[in-house]
Order: sequence, then C-alpha cells, then structure tokens
Amino acid sequence: MDKIREIPAQILGQTANAKYSVNMNEIVGTHDILFVCLDTLRYDVAFEQQEKNNTPNLNRYGKWEKRHAPGNFTFPSHTAMFAGFLPTPAQPTPKLEMERLFIPRDTTANRPTPKEAFLFEGASFVEGLEKVGYETICVGGVNFFNKRTELGRVLPRLFKRSYWHPSFSCHIKNSFENQLGFIERKLGKYDKDKRIFLYLNIDSIHYPNYFYADGAKEDSIQTHAAALQYIDSHIERLFRLFRERGKTFVIACSDHGSCYGEDGYHFHRLSHEIVYTVPYKHFVL
Ligand SMILES: [Zn+2]
Repeated sequence: MDKIREIPAQILGQTANAKYSVNMNEIVGTHDILFVCLDTLRYDVAFEQQEKNNTPNLNRYGKWEKRHAPGNFTFPSHTAMFAGFLPTPAQPTPKLEMERLFIPRDTTANRPTPKEAFLFEGASFVEGLEKVGYETICVGGVNFFNKRTELGRVLPRLFKRSYWHPSFSCHIKNSFENQLGFIERKLGKYDKDKRIFLYLNIDSIHYPNYFYADGAKEDSIQTHAAALQYIDSHIERLFRLFRERGKTFVIACSDHGSCYGEDGYHFHRLSHEIVYTVPYKHFVL
C-alpha cells in the first residue's frame, strides 16, 4: 500500500510563520471576548468615516484593516468566522504567514502550528470557548439570528445562550440601543470572575438604513455612512459595560459589504469587490 504522502503546508493554508499581533493563549481564560459584527459595513465607507473623524469612538481603538470576508452574505460569512476563519488581509500575504486567532485542534495533527493561536476543541471556536469555561452568548440582529425559522436557529444554536427580539430588527431605527439595554441587563447577572464570550450582530447598516439620514427616502451610500455614525455614537456604552467587568479582547468587523448600483450590482450575496472587502480590527479594552 502506498504511504500517505505529506501534504505541503502551503496547500493547507498553514500559518506556521505568521506574525501575530496578539497571543490568543494569553487572552483565552483571562479575558472576556466580545465579537462585534457591524453587519454589511463596507470597507470604503468605514475608511472614509474614520479619516473624516466621523466615527471618533471606533477610531479610538485603532485604524480599520482592509480585509476580505470569507463569504458574500451573512450565512456563509458567519459559518466560516465562527469556525475560526475570520476575514483575511486584502493585501497579498507571504506563504505561511496568515494570522489565525482560532484553529480547530483536530486539524493541526502533524502540522506546524503557531503558538499564538488558540487551538479549540469542536467545530467552532464558540463551542471551543464554552468547553474551556466561557458562557457563550449570542445577541442577534439580522434574520439569520432571529430564531423564528429553522434557518434562523442554525447560527444561534452554536451558543449556549442566544437571544433575539423584534426590537433588534433591521427596520427598527434604534435597534442598537435596544440591544445595548438588553446586554446591560444580561451582563449584570454574571459574576465578574465568570468569563464571557459575547457575539453581537448589529444590523443598523443592513438595509433599510435610509432613516438614519434626515430627509432621505431610500438607502444610499450616504445613509449607509449615517447608520455607521449612529452605531459609533452608542458603541462606547457597549465597551464600558465590558470594561466594568475586567479585561476584554474585542474583534470588530463586518461580514460583507453591499452594493448601491456600482457596476449595475445591488445589495450583497454576490462577489463584487465592494461586497467581499470589509473592515476589521481587534484590540483589548
Ligand atoms: Zn450580514
């Protein structure tokens, strides 16, 4: 019988030589982890608002990185992200040097593995964090998290606790504030020594978003930007809630962008550069 050949690491997308900005093994177990998805936020809009200082609160935590999403709409992008495949750098990366914060342990046999990556048990890092003692909490926004349909339960089911309320819906203008009020009440129930992983899907930028700009009658790139400014004006409240609990590692990114007629394309679920280019940053509070 033929000996099973060793597959070259670069074919497997290895990360042996990646230069890490954070050691996840110094984060997991000692920090709460907050994963904030600004659903549908385009990189170009995030960058422009950052440069104009229209998002002063988000700007405080570093510049957006230009990255590529692992999917072109919410469902595939989140399925991949929860499995540890977060958005990847938009610039070419030397072989073996792509940072991966979370890697499934059972895929690492006989492979060089970066010491900074958290190797998790299970099929998603959500499950992996629960196995090491985290309370995993999902607060939904868009319909893929609404728990009202079979499909709307698939992603929330990854978490020990998952929540959605009609007041968190895309068409509710103050949906983010409603989510924040809910999160404040929930977090208040946990001891500060209980580690928490909270995923929050903010859906204000997802259509419809025209009501964030005075007088606008339909969605546009300007109302997309106005929705981002709305989020920025409240996001410090979220960070304050976590800061009061202790140290928190934050991943903030988008899952895909959305077209407003560029090259004839509208919305997302299509692989236009505007859709798969997303903003990303991580930082410690
Ligand atoms: Zn989405």
